[in-house]
Amino acid sequence: MKYLLFFVTFSFLCSALSAQPVKKYALVIHGGAGVMSQESMTPKMQKEYRLVLNRALEVGDSVLAHCGTCMDAVEKTIIVMEDSPLFNAGKGAVFTHEGTVELDASVMDGKSLGAGAVAGIKDVKNPISLARKVMEKSEHVFLTGKGASQFAVEQGFKLVDNSYFYTENRYKALQELLKKEREATTNDKHGTVGCVALDSYGNIAAGTSTGGMNNKKYGRVGDSPIIGAGTYANNATGGFSCTGHGEYYIRLGFSRDISAMMEYLKDDIQTACRKEVEKLTKLGGTGGVIGLDKNGNVAMEFNTSGMFRGYIKSGGERKVAIFK
Ligand code: ASP
Repeated sequence: MKYLLFFVTFSFLCSALSAQPVKKYALVIHGGAGVMSQESMTPKMQKEYRLVLNRALEVGDSVLAHCGTCMDAVEKTIIVMEDSPLFNAGKGAVFTHEGTVELDASVMDGKSLGAGAVAGIKDVKNPISLARKVMEKSEHVFLTGKGASQFAVEQGFKLVDNSYFYTENRYKALQELLKKEREATTNDKHGTVGCVALDSYGNIAAGTSTGGMNNKKYGRVGDSPIIGAGTYANNATGGFSCTGHGEYYIRLGFSRDISAMMEYLKDDIQTACRKEVEKLTKLGGTGGVIGLDKNGNVAMEFNTSGMFRGYIKSGGERKVAIFK
């Protein structure tokens, strides 16, 4: 009864604000996939992660419940996770081999197929907002490094010093790798963040933000800012955000491939996501994906022992989970 009342009020409000028919909304998030076990994560840590995941869901829910757009919901939700030191995005990002932080992010709008992405960002607090600005205020899709920072200043962003992104945990993780003299980068410590939202106008948006992989070198860029790899949205199929070993996701054209399976093979979102994760496993990659289709069906698939994840729907249905 409570939910019915909520939905009737919500529908009435959104109708008043928009000429379009009102639909239900939904929002799904991830905070990275990886090797995680109940034993390796103290109850206190689990509680902290759940707290931020719930806060992120509530921020997104509040945008959508007030008839906001899916892109606003994606940006605001991701900012909550970028601002938390727990995740490998914004504050809390992993370090490069040189001991700096270089951030990547992207967004895509499923209605217009507009997209914006940034990579190698050293001085913008919330790269997801910059990715959105690239989509909305530039003629381009993808900006990198110094040019992206120059564009940020022109758009009124206040730059921060790279030291803002420093967290002791991530610094220690780099030192451990350097001590082992391991050449390879690693995504043992996960925490890339992502969000997909379906708004009450029936539009879908997706976004992803990351620090990339611990100990990355030579200006390495992963899948997260690459449209069709780490992020994709199309109102005709769904929206997707990925997390995992980026090199594999790029080679698979991961998120665009899921959308293609839905479009051409008529797979439902869960089947398409599951099939793509199977392809990832066959290739030797690890990670996961979240997705949302035009009817608000949620997919949260991964081949690791855990993925920080959750969703919320109009009417109050909500879930937050960490382990398999
Ligand atoms: N996909 C990210 C990258 O390869 C990392 C991650 O999601 O853990 O940069």
